[in-house]
Amino acid sequence: ERLVDAGADGDDQAVEAALRPKNLGEFVGQERVREQLDLVLRAARQRGATADHVLLSGAPGLGKTTLSMIIAAEMAAPIRITSGPAIQHAGDLAAILSSLTEGEVLFLDEIHRMSRPAEEMLYMAMEDFRVDVIVGKGPGATAIPLELPPFTLVGATTRAGLLPPPLRDRFGFTAHMEFYGPAELERVLHRSARLLEVEIEPAGAAEIAGRSRGTPRIANRLLRRVRDYAQVKADGVITREIAESALGVYEVDGRGLDRLDRAVLGALLKLFGGGPVGLSTLAVAVGEERETVEEVAEPFLVREGLLARTPRGRVATPAAWEHLGLRPPGQDTG
Ligand code: ATP
Repeated sequence: ERLVDAGADGDDQAVEAALRPKNLGEFVGQERVREQLDLVLRAARQRGATADHVLLSGAPGLGKTTLSMIIAAEMAAPIRITSGPAIQHAGDLAAILSSLTEGEVLFLDEIHRMSRPAEEMLYMAMEDFRVDVIVGKGPGATAIPLELPPFTLVGATTRAGLLPPPLRDRFGFTAHMEFYGPAELERVLHRSARLLEVEIEPAGAAEIAGRSRGTPRIANRLLRRVRDYAQVKADGVITREIAESALGVYEVDGRGLDRLDRAVLGALLKLFGGGPVGLSTLAVAVGEERETVEEVAEPFLVREGLLARTPRGRVATPAAWEHLGLRPPGQDTG
């Protein structure tokens, strides 16, 4: 388990739930999305109607689940949570849809991973609040139409581009969630520290924010590890020094790179002079699978402008040399 993984890991869930903002006012950052969503929900409330279907796209850990719960709370509606991979058959979806109550919010995480037949059933449910339940098999099969109460579908996906256009078009409102800036992450950290009853100094929050990869889930996770350290090794107060030492112990560096990220970057610089080098060669050099390097380490290194993927192979940028405190070949004198 990587400390800087943006995905949810099992043991976090109770704390994560406790740290979730409960309404739009508490939700930090994403100003544009918040303002738009506020209008959509307010208007629906004024009309006494069920809110339009909402599509949330963005990387893991940016608050899609949180926002779906907020939508339900703002509409004073119950929420049902499921995910694309959990819906293998159209029948699974029919069972969920037919048990929804009027105005209920259905949160469908990883909506792009739903099976094809379920997806087609969802089109009709979203548009006409109706599904055809197929009874029987072969020539004797019949479709029994089933009316559904109006509901709000909140779909979440890492990339809206992964959705088939007919599905995408059926959402009344689409919000793209961006990575958070340092100031926003500091606000997330101060809020979480208050809820966890930990004392944190502004410089301590800034230090953790800078290592959180633009992701609130990672910020909250690092905060908990730093809290442990502050409690065991000091007086419990999170200062800049404590945050630095604690995250040093966990090998998360000043920019949020962990051991794997630095191993990949280090090999690229020290063994291959900064590249270009092929992915397979790089993977062998760090003793990892190709997929691990490509899918786990590289996306963040690319996003940070430390590594580039070129047709000739992986190449380090000047920022990579600087970050690891090394000099590019040819500059090692002077
Ligand atoms: P995934 O797609 O991996 O499930 P997600 O985008 O649904 O991720 P959430 O589960 O909603 O992410 O958020 C992860 C954690 O980050 C939550 O515990 C929540 O407290 C915190 N968080 C997310 N967004 C915000 C925010 N805008 N303000 C404060 N805390 C936030």
